Amino acid sequence: SHHIHVIGGGLAGSEAAWQLAQAGYRVRLSEMRGVEATPAHHTDSLAELVCSNSFRSDDADNNAVGLLHAEMRAAGSLILAQADTHRLPAGSALAVDRDGFAAGVTQAIEAHPLIELVRERVDVLPDGPVIVATGPLTAAPLAAAIAAETGEDALAFFDAIAPIVHRETVDTGIAWFQSRWDKGGGKDYLNCPMNRDEYHAFVEGLLAAEKTEFKEWERNTPYFEGCMPIEVMASRGHETLRHGPMKPMGLDDPRTGRWPYAVVQLRQDNALGTLWNMVGFQTKLKHAEQVRLFRTIPGLEKAEFARLGGLHRNTFLQSPRLLDATLRLRSRPAVRFAGQITGCEGYVESAAVGLLAGRFAVADLAGTTALPPPGTTALGALLGHVTGGAKADTFQPMNVNFGLFPPVEGRKKADRRAVLTARARDDLATWLTAA
Ligand code: FAD
Repeated sequence: SHHIHVIGGGLAGSEAAWQLAQAGYRVRLSEMRGVEATPAHHTDSLAELVCSNSFRSDDADNNAVGLLHAEMRAAGSLILAQADTHRLPAGSALAVDRDGFAAGVTQAIEAHPLIELVRERVDVLPDGPVIVATGPLTAAPLAAAIAAETGEDALAFFDAIAPIVHRETVDTGIAWFQSRWDKGGGKDYLNCPMNRDEYHAFVEGLLAAEKTEFKEWERNTPYFEGCMPIEVMASRGHETLRHGPMKPMGLDDPRTGRWPYAVVQLRQDNALGTLWNMVGFQTKLKHAEQVRLFRTIPGLEKAEFARLGGLHRNTFLQSPRLLDATLRLRSRPAVRFAGQITGCEGYVESAAVGLLAGRFAVADLAGTTALPPPGTTALGALLGHVTGGAKADTFQPMNVNFGLFPPVEGRKKADRRAVLTARARDDLATWLTAA
């Protein structure tokens, strides 16, 4: 019999199972592909990459995901080891031969004497220690079981993502801090004003911009109240946005003393205050179009985006509220979550949260205290987003990025990066020795 059950043999589940088995624990790894397909996977291989074959930047000095790669290698990641083995030329990016990569992961798991790979769909939360790593397309019966455990509102079935801006790139000579009607003492929003011409040009821009097509299985997704993409709102009439997320009432532009014709509001998105989201701006515009169009908004001319908007089918938990610091369900600590279902975003991030869940489970099984990585490391910054950094009620999935790290002082961006990555390397080394 096994010490722990891992459900889902994707990026996160394969990595979690590997970490546990390498530490000497017997794992039952359940993967439904082989008996039941998902709408996005094409093969039965473990760790199939459903879309792009890129793990993004491998530059550990200048890019947060590159730093995450380095940390995962240092922590003995199976996913990174196989990615390195099946690497393709792609400049500074880590791109892989997807078939070789998935076959490599599958063989490593199948050959491990402590892992039993079972092709089955799991429909209930098992008793005893379990890691749920069933991903953005978690099968419906298990999703229902999770919703029953956590409460109906705690599990989302798609993400309606508004873009997030690095706060330091907003021009506060134009944008100003104020809550509508000064509510609650109110400086909680950063407001970007538009005059009549700017607003109508912006609406025209939205209507003309290229959109991402919905996939067949996404087309049936109803828009929930308050989650309609801005371009769909714009298509209902030129004034619609001005009566919705762009309404100017109660907001006094300090430069004119009056309400502008329309506004774009930004709201703080993480506890550190480094990231701000564009309120109500979920969109399916192509990413390049979003950058082009949103930089026409007064105050955002030089904006850099930590995340662009999107709308996808995506099963994920309200993790900041539901999970403890080591990814356990507060209401039922034998159940731990890993991968995209925790609200991280991306192949690398999913595998990283799988790695952490595996290591934390090892500590629990060994009867020691699981130690989360410091928030100054890429692993810790990502974990912090999932378990506490973001506000629970507006929680949306996100890739790892430098905005999730505690800021460092320094005049130039390059200097700050150097200090930040050096700090991450030191703190990771300390954590790996201690854990
Ligand atoms: P998965 O890799 O999906 O693994 C979950 C596994 O659990 C699957 O193998 C599934 O078959 C299995 N499973 C589900 N329910 C059950 C059950 N009840 N019992 C047993 N097994 C079950 N990220 C990127 O970085 N780049 C991209 O290009 C990209 N494209 C994406 C495209 C789509 C259409 C989607 C949906 C997501 C995409 N992502 C992308 C996001 C994310 O990185 C991937 O979905 C990633 O695979 C998530 O890893 P995971 O381990 O959490 O889930």
